[in-house]
Amino acid sequence: MTVIRRVLLPSPRSFCAGVERAIEIVERLLDRHGPPVYVRNQIVHNAHVVADLEARGAVFIGELDEVPDEALVVFSAHGVAPAVEREAARRGLDAVDATCPLVAKVHAEAKRAADAGDTVILIGHEGHEEVVGTMGVAPERTVLVEDAAAVASLRVADPAKVTYLSQTTLSVTEVESIAAALQARYPAIKGQGAEDICYATSNRQAAVAAVVDEADLVLVVGSANSSNSNRLVELARLAGTPSHLVEDAGALDPAWLEGTRTVAVTAGASAPPALVDDVVTAIAALGPIELIERPVTEETQEFLLPQRLRTRG
Ligand code: SF4
Repeated sequence: MTVIRRVLLPSPRSFCAGVERAIEIVERLLDRHGPPVYVRNQIVHNAHVVADLEARGAVFIGELDEVPDEALVVFSAHGVAPAVEREAARRGLDAVDATCPLVAKVHAEAKRAADAGDTVILIGHEGHEEVVGTMGVAPERTVLVEDAAAVASLRVADPAKVTYLSQTTLSVTEVESIAAALQARYPAIKGQGAEDICYATSNRQAAVAAVVDEADLVLVVGSANSSNSNRLVELARLAGTPSHLVEDAGALDPAWLEGTRTVAVTAGASAPPALVDDVVTAIAALGPIELIERPVTEETQEFLLPQRLRTRG
């Protein structure tokens, strides 16, 4: 008897409003000005998005010294340190900021806390572009903490004047546990639990959590440097379900599917929806499937484009 494999599609999955906005900024600039449009760092952490924009004339660079004077440059969705903005202005670059408004909100919170004389404790992953940008808001007043164990060795100028913030794309449960450790160590600390984690990250985690127990395997479409995608894999594994991060259908290993009756397929906020369709098609090529949508939350969030790009043409 042929076994029909169930493929669960939890939602929300795939692109968030901040990623759509960042991609649209680059696309509109390419339409309006033609290539090259320089983009500092990957516009979003997805290899396919980057390759598509590159094919249309975007040029991805690591630092501003790779950009000719007065050129057009876009800052990625992950945000930049104020020193980068100052450098762009000094060089006469035409800078367009594609920072996600929810990252910009964390920058504003960091500035407010540092201006009030607090030490800012940022919960995040060292070296991630968002963390580099947020730490750059008040570098002399910000310290990074990566896990709850590291809280014990933190040093701050005045334990009565501390605020914690977090990277937007972390695990909700992990940030809550680090926040609890911070509150235990610094009773006067200000902060809002996992509130800095963006709606897209927490919604995708909740959607995977809703199906993980009935799945034999969770596939997450996303690039290796995508923080929120990696957190989805972690969440599934912590729940005891095997899980893999796949760049695209080509990365699917048929051996993972052997013996599975129910497979959940999701995608991080930077992964295009078409890549999920490709993965589902690849699973269907291995045997008959029943496709089941599992909506958990509906997302209605939209972000305005920068003023200069709001009209087409
Ligand atoms: Fe913004 Fe969250 Fe999307 Fe990042 S994942 S671009 S913070 S909405």
